Amino acid sequence: VLPVIFAITPTYSRPVQKAELTRLANTFRQVPRLHWILVEDSVHPTELVSRFLAGAGVKSSHLYVPTPRRYKRTGLPRATEQRNAGLDWLRLQYQQRPGIHSAQPHDLSGVVFFADDDNTYSLELFHEMRTTQKVSVWPVGLVGGRRYERPVVENGKVVSWYTGWRADRPFAIDMAGFAVSLQVILSSPKAVFKRRGSQPGMQESDFLKQITKVDELEPKANNSTKVLVWHTRTEKVNLANEPKHPQDTIKIEV
Ligand code: UDP
Ligand code: MN
Repeated sequence: VLPVIFAITPTYSRPVQKAELTRLANTFRQVPRLHWILVEDSVHPTELVSRFLAGAGVKSSHLYVPTPRRYKRTGLPRATEQRNAGLDWLRLQYQQRPGIHSAQPHDLSGVVFFADDDNTYSLELFHEMRTTQKVSVWPVGLVGGRRYERPVVENGKVVSWYTGWRADRPFAIDMAGFAVSLQVILSSPKAVFKRRGSQPGMQESDFLKQITKVDELEPKANNSTKVLVWHTRTEKVNLANEPKHPQDTIKIEV
């Protein structure tokens, strides 16, 4: 059987949230054996997300954890707590019931991927990451002030990074540019995303250096020469004409 892909998605309430989640669900629904771990940045699970997930047609788990207010500032890394909540959930599941996603009681085959809610994912990407043994990497489009960033591969190994931004990063790669096998997540129980000491753009490197080395990385997407994921960002929506007090005769979820 195919290893399960666990997609950990942090998400937060804003005018475009349901639109983003709709696009993401339309992608994930087409991926076999995908388990969506949707982690709300909130004090409580919201009704919008609960209702949405119930009708999404994607196997899922719904988690929530708020970002402490002091970390909600531009220039600080986003969604650290939510990604860690996803990792904690996985570790707890497998501690309790190792074979939970398989007919085999001790099957730990699985792949963990961090899927932000606003990116664009080709279906081929999931096919590529499914064969991750430890940690796999691939190019990401529309990121780092360039058309793409990518791992530079020689003789099947990553030797450097093609990037236009902070080339000093040990792993010059976006969150959308790597996947980690479930076994690695479970056998490195202390590997987490860090707040303290994590500079903007260093979350990926800080995390990856806890679990792997550059020369162990498995390049995917034809030796990392194909862009299968795009770091798209949604324009801030214009609500300038929104009435101060409700004017419509019905209340409607957007
Ligand atoms: N996010 C979140 N709380 C926040 C800001 C962002 O949970 O306060 C989520 C967001 O929904 C997305 C991920 O964290 O899934 C990355 O955020 P964003 O896309 O804004 O970051 P960028 O595109 O700048 O990397
Ligand atoms: Mn984004």
